[in-house]
Amino acid sequence: MASYLVLLGPPGAGKGTQAKRLAANTGLAHISSGDIFRQHLKESTELGKKARVYIDRGELVPDDVTIAMIRERLSRPDCKAGAILDGFPRTTDQAAGLDDILGDLGGRVDRVLFVAVPDDELIRRLSGRLVCRAQGHIYQRDFNPPQEPGVCDVDGSELYQRDDDKEETVRHRIQVYRQQTAPLIEYYRQRSLLTEIEGGQPVEQVTADMLAAIGKGS
Ligand code: AMP
Repeated sequence: MASYLVLLGPPGAGKGTQAKRLAANTGLAHISSGDIFRQHLKESTELGKKARVYIDRGELVPDDVTIAMIRERLSRPDCKAGAILDGFPRTTDQAAGLDDILGDLGGRVDRVLFVAVPDDELIRRLSGRLVCRAQGHIYQRDFNPPQEPGVCDVDGSELYQRDDDKEETVRHRIQVYRQQTAPLIEYYRQRSLLTEIEGGQPVEQVTADMLAAIGKGS
């Protein structure tokens, strides 16, 4: 049966970094709603045009648009064995939408990994975050710099700062997270699906804790 994991946590908690590592370890597809939106922005699709105003302001893209996008993505063949959801769901309506989608696909949410990191640490991490243009590999200017400044170690593409990682937008995104996404912690705790992971630890330890939480620890 397919296995679906949700990574929940504030912007800057390390969800993207960890989702990539978990995907490499488990063979599950990595589905990042933020990455899909950024791809649409880059290609100026209709969806990208709709989403841009919200993303630029650090607000959430409306639920109906986001849920439809994720439904389409999870229906593709590379998600047959399941997926690691990074950045979705972000509202309780999206969580209900996800239950519907997975019900139709014959699955369910198997585990929600809540990555907890204090606010001051989030701002510090996000304001120095760099992302690679080609594949979204993630670096941090101070704690995890690339070998050569401005160049991705993995694919050699240019590193850039996301527009929505500027400090003012970061603060707003954290506020939006507190108001709209944090209620999902209780939502999933009540369903006995939540495991809290200490996100302030070294990257390798966070991955090890996540693998242990999904029964794939060494
Ligand atoms: P992320 O890369 O996850 O930080 O997402 C970047 C931006 O994309 C967010 O600030 C939102 O504007 C939008 N976004 C990503 N995922 C969602 C979602 N599940 N619901 C609504 N908006 C989202």
